[in-house]
Amino acid sequence: MSPPHVLIFPLPAQGHINAMLKLTELLLPAGINTTFLISTKDHRSLSGVHSRLNSYPGFRFHVIQGLYEGPMDTAEKLSVMFDCLAEITPPLLRNLILDFPVTCLIADGIMGFSIDAVEGTGVPVIFFRTISACAFWAYFNIQDLINSGELPFSGTNMDERIVNLKGMEGFLRQRDLPSFCRSDINNYTLRQVSSITRRSSDAHALILNTFDDLEGPIISQIQKHCSNIYTIGPLHAHLKSRSLSKSKSSNSLLEEDKTCIGWLDQQPPKSVLYVSFGSLATLTRDQLIEFWYGLVNSKKPFLWVIREDLVLSKDDENKVPNELEKGTKERGYLVGWAPQEDVLAHPAVGAFLTHNGWNSTLESIVAGVPMVSWSFYADQQVNSRFVEVVWKLGLDMKDTCDRTLVERIVKEVMDVRKEEFTKSANRMAKLAIESVSEGGSSYINLDRLIEDIKEMGVQRKRIS
Ligand code: UDP
Repeated sequence: MSPPHVLIFPLPAQGHINAMLKLTELLLPAGINTTFLISTKDHRSLSGVHSRLNSYPGFRFHVIQGLYEGPMDTAEKLSVMFDCLAEITPPLLRNLILDFPVTCLIADGIMGFSIDAVEGTGVPVIFFRTISACAFWAYFNIQDLINSGELPFSGTNMDERIVNLKGMEGFLRQRDLPSFCRSDINNYTLRQVSSITRRSSDAHALILNTFDDLEGPIISQIQKHCSNIYTIGPLHAHLKSRSLSKSKSSNSLLEEDKTCIGWLDQQPPKSVLYVSFGSLATLTRDQLIEFWYGLVNSKKPFLWVIREDLVLSKDDENKVPNELEKGTKERGYLVGWAPQEDVLAHPAVGAFLTHNGWNSTLESIVAGVPMVSWSFYADQQVNSRFVEVVWKLGLDMKDTCDRTLVERIVKEVMDVRKEEFTKSANRMAKLAIESVSEGGSSYINLDRLIEDIKEMGVQRKRIS
């Protein structure tokens, strides 16, 4: 009997592609063939991945032409991408299903339209949401927050508590809700993410890149609406635990500057602050300068990822103040893109100043590295609140990045409360590794997912 064949369809963005490629690499060795849908541009950028995955005869990329390729650093631009996908891909999905026997579609859960696109084909749709369970649950409740009058925000006090979000009462403030909640309740993107997230209840199942010891109480809340959930993360650790990290090639769309590892080798243990805001976030020039002063004034060695498109206005004075240049020469190392998993695992790294994208957050958790959080948008606001008050893995400087605050919080995490944060980070790292080790919750759930896909293959053969 021919093996099951799964279509895997991520949102074309670094964090989403990264997580879904990792899932692909967990399914292939289990005898599940996969076709991975990807944009022309991303396909070109993933040359290292081609050779790695092409060693599996059951793997192929399917390139989607004509997708939006612009930036996605605002709600509006994200909506342009969602709309473009919703228009271009449904006929493509249906044709693929007609051309090949497809056991199931594992679609990025942010593309709710996939369910309608394959309706009538008999192909089950499993959603994979690449965000945290807590952010997913916040998105899921947007309509309820509107109904209960907590959205739109009344008044200007963003520290006001949210009381109608089950499992987060008591600690979630207005400023910790997904960034889209700050807009008018009729805002297009807010409506879109709310209704798309609700569609998860219609999917055959839901995959989350998280683990039960991290987000158990919130997962239980989601379970009331999505009965079949596979929590199988952290995926990057899961690959290692099953000895499936095939080669050193990464899933990066940008070229990694590996020279930073040599620089890290020369730094004392746990002394370096690693700074990265992921693949989509942007900074104004003023924010850049404030962060920069804060880093230099903290007197910690720092490794900072400054992507080519990180800073919004490059026009006027590109000149960096002398004291920053001097401080950076003495203690800093700047790269355009880093081999992040290796950086976080390096013994010299003592903390991570992060935007709390979900992949970065999980990578920090697995490496046992405490965090300084500066969330940019979307799910990151929720993640950073959980980092500080629920998981106690660092401090959240949400919405402010003036130089004195940056300096103070970096020192707080790396000096004043170092022991406390290192202890909780090590504890959570241990739980993360246990979850993906044989007998752990994520390990068992992945085995269940694999068996369920195989069973779907058998069922579909019986029907056809
Ligand atoms: N990343 C990387 N090098 C960098 C910065 C980020 O390899 O210099 C990777 C990081 O390891 C993570 C992904 O890019 O896997 C970013 O995903 P995340 O969900 O954290 O944030 P997003 O980019 O989606 O905002």
